[in-house]
Amino acid sequence: MEDIDDVLNKVSSTLKFMAKAGCAGFDCSEKTIGVVEKLDKITSFSLDNLDSIRSELGECKRCKLSGGRTNIVFGTGNPNARLAFVGEGPGYDEDVKGEPFVGRAGQLLTKIIEAINLTRDEVYICNIIKCRPPSNRNPEPDEIKACFPFLKRQLDAIAPDFICALGTFAAQTLLDTNEPISKLRGRLFDYRGMQVMPTYHPAYLLRSPEKKRDVWEDMKKLIGMMKG
Ligand code: URA
Repeated sequence: MEDIDDVLNKVSSTLKFMAKAGCAGFDCSEKTIGVVEKLDKITSFSLDNLDSIRSELGECKRCKLSGGRTNIVFGTGNPNARLAFVGEGPGYDEDVKGEPFVGRAGQLLTKIIEAINLTRDEVYICNIIKCRPPSNRNPEPDEIKACFPFLKRQLDAIAPDFICALGTFAAQTLLDTNEPISKLRGRLFDYRGMQVMPTYHPAYLLRSPEKKRDVWEDMKKLIGMMKG
């Protein structure tokens, strides 16, 4: 079943589409009906863009994490990326800089991206939640619920062909499952028409370097699919 955010996003996209098509109001003229019929045929279509999503997010106070953050970490990279990386949430360094994956785990992610012959500027990097939880604790369900609609819109606006979900929270949230990351990693799943490859989180690799081999296998599979 669609949640209220999906419905509101669709209403908003429909109205923007109609305005762009020259409709001044929601009437029953032939012109408006024609536009609505056309919209119905365009299924995977988003008029959202990253700037408008960011400005709608504003100085967000939709959850309790706003009280303790320094900066909102919205996401960085190519707005037309074919590949997006989705992590869990900002840590200390990300909170200070307002950029995702810039601490130790981030440096490892940069190496992973470069190992598949891409750069951070070519991909898009973001997180399930945009504000740092106190003492880097796990995100709580109400925080994910408040934040996830914005990520959903970012991903719809970018429309990457592939998403690499980094770690348990990213994979379980995007795929709406409780399966452990050890079972999900290395497999491809559909998320709103985008292909999701879950793999281990770089922070986990810092604690368990023997798992780097698994991530490398996952990345080879992912890049093979991207080359298609
Ligand atoms: N860990 C994450 O999940 N995201 C970041 O941005 C940094 C560390």
